[in-house]
Amino acid sequence: MKDILSRAGREVLQQFAWSNVLLAFDYDGTLAPIVRDPDKAEMRATTRQLLEEVASLYPCIVVSGRAQPDARRWLRGIRLQRVVGNHGIEPWQTTQGFVEEVKRWQPLLNRRLSAFKGVRIENKTFSVAVHYRRSREKKKARAAILDAAAALGSMRVIGGKQVVNILPQGAPHKGIALERERDRLRRDTAIYVGDDETDEDVFGLDQPGRSRGPQARIPSLVLRKKPACNRRAPDGAPEPATGTGTGSGCALMTRPAGLSLEAPLPHLGEVLEFMRLIWAVDHALQMTSKRMKSTFGVTGPQRLVIRIVARFPGIPAGQIAQLLHVHPSTLTGILKRLERQGLIRRRPDPKDRRRASLGITEKGRRIGAAAAGTVEAAVDRMISRTPRAKLQNARDVLLELAASLGEAPD
Ligand SMILES: [Mg+2]
Repeated sequence: MKDILSRAGREVLQQFAWSNVLLAFDYDGTLAPIVRDPDKAEMRATTRQLLEEVASLYPCIVVSGRAQPDARRWLRGIRLQRVVGNHGIEPWQTTQGFVEEVKRWQPLLNRRLSAFKGVRIENKTFSVAVHYRRSREKKKARAAILDAAAALGSMRVIGGKQVVNILPQGAPHKGIALERERDRLRRDTAIYVGDDETDEDVFGLDQPGRSRGPQARIPSLVLRKKPACNRRAPDGAPEPATGTGTGSGCALMTRPAGLSLEAPLPHLGEVLEFMRLIWAVDHALQMTSKRMKSTFGVTGPQRLVIRIVARFPGIPAGQIAQLLHVHPSTLTGILKRLERQGLIRRRPDPKDRRRASLGITEKGRRIGAAAAGTVEAAVDRMISRTPRAKLQNARDVLLELAASLGEAPD
């Protein structure tokens, strides 16, 4: 078992972060803590903030066992590319056949399980979840649920944390859903994080014999963090080991089989490796800037100009060009665009018509104040995590590099 947050794991994650990646998450137990009442499965504020941030940087989806509208309710306000519900059925295969099947199961399950206190049957239209978290006799309840499910005839059972999921035979699963989303969004790689047995359909994609369906040929790398059976329920009771006892983990998938712990990228030598790092920073800056354009309507450099103007009202354009190391004509282009968008004001100098002083508008101030998802937020995060001495060394190295390239800042 390899820890995803080990040094080697982080290196692989980094390679994926640089690729054309799709990020996918399970909801319960992954984004939100497992709670006694599934109707109170809210994300922690810090998780929500991180998810918002990550969704502004990468295309993200959530693949949940909950019904799609229910999962969406908890994720409202986050810029996700899609919320997949019912373990992969919604929106991919919401057929009337599945609805009829589930309708047929409901009275049969009711009849066999109504005597069990603390057992709740949740009809999710396309599948059923039978919860037994509130039962005092969990072992007995689980056995009865499995018996009742078996009596339904053709279906698929997936265990979970004090829940038994019953799905129509032939329904798509989380692995199929993830692959479909990856195709739809034209991503080369995917990172999936899940915590339970139903996520095994994703983790099993590259493991012959465990995966189901045609997506088995796509290589993936599975890094497990903690087996589900080691987790504890909020009330302190150990989670029962379900099925294989695994489930918790993170799957990394890639179309070309080039990224894995066993086959690291070739070492290019000191100079090229350093240059690769610079290109990676450059690429990440461009990508973040592009995403900022679609989120806020301004690129990274444009927002930087807004921030400087907001901080130093009346600043002459020439000084901004100097501060940003851009050619005055480049800056003129940026200023014109910002003025057109109503984000800055240019006031001609009454003494010298060729000069103008710059001011910020209310709209510009709002954009300047936005934080999550900006280049600045990423730099701020890095600075707050890095010891001062290390930062000073990095500054020195960057200055040396700029000087060596003939562009040292003052
Ligand atoms: Mg889960």
